[in-house]
Amino acid sequence: MTDTPPPARPRRPDKQTYFLILAIAARSRADCLGRRVGAVIAREDRVLSTGYNGTPFGMPNCTEGGCRRCAQRDLDTSLRGGAYDVCICVHAEQNALLTAARFGQQTLGASITSTMQPCFGCLKELLQAGIEEVRFLHPWDPVEAYHDPGLAQQYAALRARFRVFSQVGTPDVDSGDLFAAFSRA
Ligand SMILES: [Zn+2]
Ligand SMILES: [Zn+2]
Repeated sequence: MTDTPPPARPRRPDKQTYFLILAIAARSRADCLGRRVGAVIAREDRVLSTGYNGTPFGMPNCTEGGCRRCAQRDLDTSLRGGAYDVCICVHAEQNALLTAARFGQQTLGASITSTMQPCFGCLKELLQAGIEEVRFLHPWDPVEAYHDPGLAQQYAALRARFRVFSQVGTPDVDSGDLFAAFSRA
């Protein structure tokens, strides 16, 4: 009788990877002509809320022409990465914050994990909501994005207010077979 080796146990993600996987899952619901983003807010290692980007409740979806700014971003490249004040789409991080607010979950001392490095607007809102840790999968460079050293400096000053502001995971986590490594009953 030959001994068959026991099947290898599936990998168990650590907590930060777990939140990242949940953020990627939330992103699957995103409806925006821009980059699709998902985010998860957690406190004491428990998920408080999730969010993905898209238009507000009851408004036509972004991909159905619901956002004038997003619809024009390919025609007017100056709108890319900017003109957020006239973008009707709510960012993933904002939606995660606002969902926490809607259901009365305290965000003070919480962490957020996003599939993208948060934009300037989200970063100030996260700070103001008491979020202490910011982790993201895909980084970008504010110096390149803003073409304005003063703004990039201000972004750097904002990010310095967080106890943690760091990239988490590697882009290869974000692949089609994301769940293959972790899923098997
Ligand atoms: Zn949009
Ligand atoms: Zn944002």
